[in-house]
Amino acid sequence: MTHSLDATHNPNLRSWVESANQQDTDFPIQNLPFGVFRPQGSTETPRIGVAIGDKILDLTRCYQLGLFPGLPEQLQIACTAPNLNLLMGMGIQPRLALRHSLSELLRADTQQHPPETEILLSISDIELLVPASIGDYTDFYASIFHATNVGKLFRPDNPLLPNYKYVPIAYHGRASSIVPSDTAIKRPSGQIKPAEESVPRFARSQMLDYELEVGFFVGTGNQPGQPIYIDKAEEHIFGLCLVNDWSARDIQAWEYQPLGPFLAKSFATTISPWVVTLEALAPFRCPAFDRAQSDPQPLPYLSSSLDSSLGGIDITLEVWIRSAQMEQQGIQPFCLSRGSFQQMYWTIAQMLTHHASNGCNLRPGDLLASGTVSGAQAGSQGCLLEITQRGSQPIVLPTGEERKFLVDGDEVILRGYCETAGYQRIGFGECRGKIVNSQ
Ligand code: CA
Repeated sequence: MTHSLDATHNPNLRSWVESANQQDTDFPIQNLPFGVFRPQGSTETPRIGVAIGDKILDLTRCYQLGLFPGLPEQLQIACTAPNLNLLMGMGIQPRLALRHSLSELLRADTQQHPPETEILLSISDIELLVPASIGDYTDFYASIFHATNVGKLFRPDNPLLPNYKYVPIAYHGRASSIVPSDTAIKRPSGQIKPAEESVPRFARSQMLDYELEVGFFVGTGNQPGQPIYIDKAEEHIFGLCLVNDWSARDIQAWEYQPLGPFLAKSFATTISPWVVTLEALAPFRCPAFDRAQSDPQPLPYLSSSLDSSLGGIDITLEVWIRSAQMEQQGIQPFCLSRGSFQQMYWTIAQMLTHHASNGCNLRPGDLLASGTVSGAQAGSQGCLLEITQRGSQPIVLPTGEERKFLVDGDEVILRGYCETAGYQRIGFGECRGKIVNSQ
């Protein structure tokens, strides 16, 4: 991989922003994720910021104050854009230079004596937006455990289709309905045909679900007709976020054959607002999924020794729920699952390489998502469809309420973080969404 460890990953680095030095913060100085924001309640042009502790560093103000003197002008201008696309399209070297400048500026022993009140805002005072103009969104299906569990529910005698271990399966999602964390999600209506009925009816979905996923943004793109080689794939990835691919299972069950998901998914997809760069994730790289001896090896264009030795990322991923009743009673969210991104059958490099292998051009700001992250262990299933076995085994919340699928007023919270010996823990923040009645 091109993302090596350097001084910015030093676990002993501390920031003059005190909240960034707390052990459990998602945003220590070793993370430095990018987001796009504006002051709460304002209609100002969005600006790019970097999370540090419970604050956000305003890059436009840093530029105006000349706090990045060594950086090329073009890079500084990209930092003042209303979204991350320009920065994403610049590639790794400028991004690395920016990471080093940010680390220098924010470290406790900085020589720059930055004007704190002019460049920092409290995260609680701002609104975080979708960080890029997302031209295209593709959703993969990269967990073999999810694919097998779901396959069993729909095809008990033939759960995993024969192409699965060869092709990173995906569908083209809808970019227009991608929303930032904390956006209310309206329950969709659609065609539903219960098994006991002979014709469908148009009704509100009664089987609304979440899907815990990891998304990755394309950095530099590729020209039409130009594939991306597996060992170059990560040079085209800017960073990662959390994704909730909301799914109406009753609409999906009726519409999905033969062309795959459509209206069951396209009503909304929530993403976490912070983009954690691949550079920040360097200490948490791990081998790709350990395939069974009897499984086929990936075809040569999806295979490299580098990717199999370092293509995985160990991100702990959790899903929490809080019902309206829990909220009224002051009960904290309840944990539904905990798993790791390490268990995905396909790596992010394999997904991106496969996407471009036919010459399809990817563009800066395109979003690719992993598909539901489910692991082998009990308690690591990334959606209710699997956890409740399509509603046949409801879960019980701390209030005694039962859940087969989501009801109005339920809030779903995704969290992700990375921990490994010898390095500072980093996190993704939260990806939240509450279901509201659409009528
Ligand atoms: Ca999905």
